[in-house]
Parts: sequence; structure tokens; C-alpha cells
Amino acid sequence: MLSLAVDRLSKTYPNGTVALNRVSFSAQPGEGIVLLGSNGSGKSTLLRCIVGLEKPTSGRIGVGNSQLETANACQLRQLRQQIGIVFQRFHLVANLSAFHNVLQGSLGRSKGPRYWFPATAPKQERDRVMQCLERVNLAHLAQQRVDTLSGGQQQRVAIARMLMQDTSLLLVDEPVASLDPKSGREAMDLLWDIVRERQLTAICTLHQLDLAKDYADRIIGLRQGEIQIDAPAHILTDRE
Ligand code: ADP
Ligand code: ADP
Repeated sequence: MLSLAVDRLSKTYPNGTVALNRVSFSAQPGEGIVLLGSNGSGKSTLLRCIVGLEKPTSGRIGVGNSQLETANACQLRQLRQQIGIVFQRFHLVANLSAFHNVLQGSLGRSKGPRYWFPATAPKQERDRVMQCLERVNLAHLAQQRVDTLSGGQQQRVAIARMLMQDTSLLLVDEPVASLDPKSGREAMDLLWDIVRERQLTAICTLHQLDLAKDYADRIIGLRQGEIQIDAPAHILTDRE
């Protein structure tokens, strides 16, 4: 389990847009946090800073015992391996099977070879891929190309890939944005079951208060790059 500490984090883009302004919070191991905010409030920027895809203008980010801003390239790579990400647009390899995409998750864990042909992966790895696909109820579609799957199914492949990576900090960017309401709820149910099962520290961005209230332990509300509210989910009302 990993803790996360964000300390007075600011990000101003080169064009002058202030995306984050002195954002501070820390996540305890095993805590499920929803980062709630409308479009443009800075949610994606914050996630990208945490994984090191974006360089903050100022402030500090601690993951476990490491500080992101002082990490060298090698340490940064190791840090990123400890962070599972489920992107809004899934970032799957379209022309590969579900099985092959999930297998790529193992790349995050080791310096092992890239498996161009899934059949060349050790049996143990292949068994684990099937276990991860079974966990998201997709074992029956393992051999299907992901670009022939529905949005909800593609997202489950992305979740299985994250499981394969076996991290303890999970970042989820707008998991319901590309799904219809029913699939969205199913996706949140599955994600949150996994967060509980694996005791993951999770940060999930959303822009819907009703979903946030139903799933989060804690809600951090972001508005124009600043934290407006940071509270246990159950004390928020519909008018917030
Ligand atoms: P959210 O994820 O909540 O929609 P973002 O983090 O994507 O918010 O964006 C926060 C603000 O930063 C917005 O005003 C957005 O237009 C701006 N922004 C995001 N990415 C860039 C970029 N690469 N260059 C300039 N401005 C950006
Ligand atoms: P969006 O919020 O635009 O739908 P995603 O949620 O798919 O984007 O991804 C979040 C951000 O991270 C995007 O701005 C994307 O450019 C960036 N990103 C995603 N995957 C990678 C990657 N593998 N390497 C570098 N940047 C990435």
C-alpha cells in the first residue's frame, strides 16, 4: 500500500493558464478518493503531475517514501511502475487481442521482454492474464481484438491490464465519461470492488456529484485549479 502526499502543487502552462494553484492533500493507504470538478478544473493536470507526465511549476509530490521532483529518470520510471492508471480513453492497442493488451501490463512490473507474441510469454504470466480477465468477467473474449469490443468491455480490459501491473496506487481518469449511464455504474462498481479487495489507494476523477457520493470515501472538490472542499463523502448534500 502506498501513500500519496501532494504539497502546494501549482501548474501554470506555458500559455499562462493556471491549471493548479497550491493544491495540497494526502491520501492514506487504502483510501478511495474522488476528485470532483467540472471540465477545466484541473483534474487531468493533477493526475498527469502525479504520474510524472507533466512537470509542476512548483510544489511537491510524495509517493510512498519518494519525492517526485527530486527523482532521477531511473527512479521516476520505478515510481511510475508503482502507479496503475486507467485512462479516460483506455489507451489500449487497438489491433491486439484483449489477452495481448492485458499481457502488456506485466511490462510495468519487470524489465522483462516485450511479448510480441503472447504465446512466447511464460505459462505463469499467461495464467495470470486469464485470472485478471476473469476478474473483470471478460475471459470469454480474451482472443477478441479490442477494437471490436464495446466501450464498457474495453474499459474492463484496461482495468485487467492495471490488475496485471499489480500496483498499489491507482489513478482513474473519468471512468464513466465514455460510457452510457448503466455501463458507467457497472464500471464504478467493478473498480471500487477492486479498490476494496486489493486495498488500493485510489484517486478517481469524476464530474458527477451523485456518483462521487455513492462511491468515494472522501471527496476533494476542485474548482479553477483550487481545492474548494475536502470532506468525507457522506457529509455532502445535493446542493454542494
Ligand atoms: P480537467 O481535467 O478538470 O478538465 P485539465 O487539467 O484538463 O482539467 O485543465 C485545466 C486547465 O488547464 C484548463 O483551463 C485547460 O484548458 C488548461 N490546460 C490543460 N492542458 C493544457 C495544456 N497542455 N496547455 C495549456 N492549457 C492546458
Ligand atoms: P483525455 O483526458 O484527453 O481523454 P486520457 O485520459 O486518455 O486523455 O489521458 C490523459 C492524458 O495523459 C492525456 O492528455 C494524454 O495525452 C496523456 N497520456 C496518456 N497516455 C500517455 C502515455 N502513454 N504517454 C504520455 N502521455 C500520455
